[in-house]
Amino acid sequence: MIVAGNWKMYAGPDPRELADRLASVSGVEVVVCPPFTGLAACVHAGLATYAQNVHWEREGAYTGEVSAPMLLGIGAAGSLVGHSERRQYFGETDEGVARRAAAALAAGLDVIACVGETLAEREAGETEEVLRRQVSVLEAHARLVVAYEPVWAIGTGLTATPETAQDAHAFIKSLLDVPVLYGGSVKPDNAVELMVQPDVDGALVGGASLQVESFAAICEAAAAAA
Ligand code: PEP
Repeated sequence: MIVAGNWKMYAGPDPRELADRLASVSGVEVVVCPPFTGLAACVHAGLATYAQNVHWEREGAYTGEVSAPMLLGIGAAGSLVGHSERRQYFGETDEGVARRAAAALAAGLDVIACVGETLAEREAGETEEVLRRQVSVLEAHARLVVAYEPVWAIGTGLTATPETAQDAHAFIKSLLDVPVLYGGSVKPDNAVELMVQPDVDGALVGGASLQVESFAAICEAAAAAA
């Protein structure tokens, strides 16, 4: 079981307070993904720390980007790639996401690659086609994890039913043999029912990762579901 907290563009909780609270949680791999400016403090607090994005080049004229060697240099362990907010607001493409993932993995980072359909795509019956397109550009790797995040469930309070999540996870695993996390309005009160599904290997948590208690409760739910 893996539980990752995506702090998005929020300062997030005090890393030391979070690390202290999580010290009593066992049986779950817990990861935090703060904004770039929060990475060092999370690393120093002893938290497994991922960036929210990573570039495919080691260095170069890419204003606003950060490379895998730079992240490794400050002690980060991994990175998200392809979050739907990156795809939606910053023009990330499947090919760009694949390049970011491949370079980060080759450099030695862990990677959580996010995939998921929009509401319009689900309603048009295109969920599997979208997932196939997004997943097929990724190559299996021991340090690669996929997060299934239906876009309509991110930050909306709408959660996929456990059955909907299970179906999507099983489909993703039929394409790529890697652990698959569920993301989309995971809260302490729905975490267990999602994480007991056979193909749900943990959660990527946005809003509920911003408070120590709600994030810790989700980590405890993951431990109970393991
Ligand atoms: C996310 O940011 O990846 C996410 C799933 O957000 P939320 O939990 O707020 O829906």
